[in-house]
Amino acid sequence: MAKRTCDRRGHAFALGRFLFRTPTAWEYAAAVACGSDPAAQRWLGWLPDSVVTEPMRSEALRILPGTGPAWSTPDPHSVDVVAIDLLEGRCAGLVSVHSGEDGGPETGGYLAPAYRGRGLGRDLFAAGLLLAHSHLGLPRVRAGAEVGNVASGRSLEAAGLRRAPGPPHYTLPNGRLSEAWWYQHDVPRPHRCPGPPAEWLAF
Ligand SMILES: [Zn+2]
Repeated sequence: MAKRTCDRRGHAFALGRFLFRTPTAWEYAAAVACGSDPAAQRWLGWLPDSVVTEPMRSEALRILPGTGPAWSTPDPHSVDVVAIDLLEGRCAGLVSVHSGEDGGPETGGYLAPAYRGRGLGRDLFAAGLLLAHSHLGLPRVRAGAEVGNVASGRSLEAAGLRRAPGPPHYTLPNGRLSEAWWYQHDVPRPHRCPGPPAEWLAF
């Protein structure tokens, strides 16, 4: 399997069961499939064009990690890393640090259906914190969860984020307005790795 350390083309680090890495084009397709099922879309609210439907979804979930050409994100305001399950040899989800509602850095992500309900959301969001604080040099990162998304809130708190004040709503990509719980996490001394920086973020 490909690289496991950061360089100027991408980030790579291990955490818990997963290797988190800047995805290849095919790994990114697998990651999109991980969040495309109706249960995930209830919370994610992507535009219909972004959602991978069956039978493509099952096929994309079987993509082998380490395959596919190098790829750059379509969103220049987001640093995305894919969660790779080294034991099973498949893509398990995605976590990102992106420009949030207030312009500051936010983390968010999702797991494939087979990885939900197993306490692995903690590792996913811990990876988001690690990406923000130890790779992108960000002292503070926030996260939003929809009011009622108890699994997401529990995972954020298990990863170490704490409830914080914030706007009462946020807007999903499909335009749906959702009520928000906000979380945040701070470190006194963030670090930057040799990987691609988050140049858009003012901090
Ligand atoms: Zn890095």
